[in-house]
Amino acid sequence: VPAGITPVLSPDGAAGRAWDALVIGAGPAGSAAAIGLARGGAATLLVDRASLPRSKVCGCCLNTAALGVLGALGLGGMPARVGAVPLQAVRVASGGVCARIPLPPAAALSRESLDTELVREAVRSGACFVPGVVARVMPPTAEACLVMLGSAGAAQARVVVVADGLGGRSADGFPGLEVRVWKRSRIGAGVVLDSGPDWVKPGVVYMACGKGGYVGLVRLEDGRVDVAAALDPLFVRSRHGPGAAASEVLAGAGWTPPEVLAASRWRGTPALSRRRCVQSGRVFVVGDACGYVEPFTGEGIAWSLTTGVAVVPHVLAVLAGADAGRSTWVGCYRRLLGGRHRACRSTAWVLRRPMLVRAALRVFSVAPWASRPVVPGFTAGCTAAACQGGAT
Ligand SMILES: Cc1cc2nc3c(=O)[nH]c(=O)nc-3n(C[C@H](O)[C@H](O)[C@H](O)COP(=O)(O)OP(=O)(O)OC[C@H]3O[C@@H](n4cnc5c(N)ncnc54)[C@H](O)[C@@H]3O)c2cc1C
Repeated sequence: VPAGITPVLSPDGAAGRAWDALVIGAGPAGSAAAIGLARGGAATLLVDRASLPRSKVCGCCLNTAALGVLGALGLGGMPARVGAVPLQAVRVASGGVCARIPLPPAAALSRESLDTELVREAVRSGACFVPGVVARVMPPTAEACLVMLGSAGAAQARVVVVADGLGGRSADGFPGLEVRVWKRSRIGAGVVLDSGPDWVKPGVVYMACGKGGYVGLVRLEDGRVDVAAALDPLFVRSRHGPGAAASEVLAGAGWTPPEVLAASRWRGTPALSRRRCVQSGRVFVVGDACGYVEPFTGEGIAWSLTTGVAVVPHVLAVLAGADAGRSTWVGCYRRLLGGRHRACRSTAWVLRRPMLVRAALRVFSVAPWASRPVVPGFTAGCTAAACQGGAT
């Protein structure tokens, strides 16, 4: 477990000050935004309701695009420094059919380490980090935004960046930022096992697909095994919990489920899909807080880092006096992620049809190269460079 970050400011101290930018949520999206804003000279406050290090339901795989954004942030050496496990391949199995798909550069890294290192960089870049604070955006005013910081009172900020993740509620009720969720959404669930089964080898991602959802396993930098799943809520209910449901998916794919799985303490997420407008006035939204589909293609962290980086010039332009109403962040976001979201939704559609999945795996098992256009999230992703400096 990485060492924690000692806050330099109390919630009371943070609430008593006026900030240029207040970033809500210290996941990859919020930290990437805070790093860029602080480096751009903005007085930046980054708050999170949790203290770091903290774990999170996640497959913990950084794809090539995520590693690329880390590199662009000057953190290219960080994954190796903290022991991230380089990934060589993903093994996908369904109904006893298995395909091994080689991966371009990718790595497995616990969210405790990744998120803590990103916040550390935000603090090094000049941002103030205050953990243990539940933030809430207040109704808009003409010149500044007010954000309630738990019981400490309201902080004033010229711009707010909402990066509070999939279940985030900090901007609930803010006009123009209503959240839409797909009716047939799956839910996420995860657990980290101290050692996990021997068949989970370092450097390989294991994905088991079944009718009720899919389960991924990967060995982390400290030898633990991260288990993350996207499951149909009805399937989970009928199996009396995510542990039994995930065990059934693994067994159905042909892999022996770890005995401890069903009895482990799982953590869940709300519905996985999410769509919302990414800006309303002086409030910008990044990461899962504004859009997510499903984890299968393993690109959520890349999307979050990318949007966190890409929003920076738009926010700095508003801080420099540009009209927030004329910001081009909405169009930039669509250009960055619209195509990836559509591709991910298509993959999610296929994953709900096990016969199609098995047919695809049969092809991939003899011709792994054929998987490239089908599972592009593993191999490509978006790049923040596609949308630099596009404010107003
Ligand atoms: C089952 C599953 C497996 C996945 N596997 C992968 C994978 O292998 N690779 C990959 O790239 N992506 C994966 N993802 C997606 C990835 O986890 C997310 O896309 C990513 O974490 C989103 O980052 P974020 O910064 O937007 O939000 P988060 O990482 O969720 O961070 C949000 C932060 O906001 C804080 N917060 C929330 N509300 C408040 C509030 N009111 N006040 C203050 N703080 C608040 C939270 O404490 C949290 O720290 C997976 C997701 C799931 C569900």
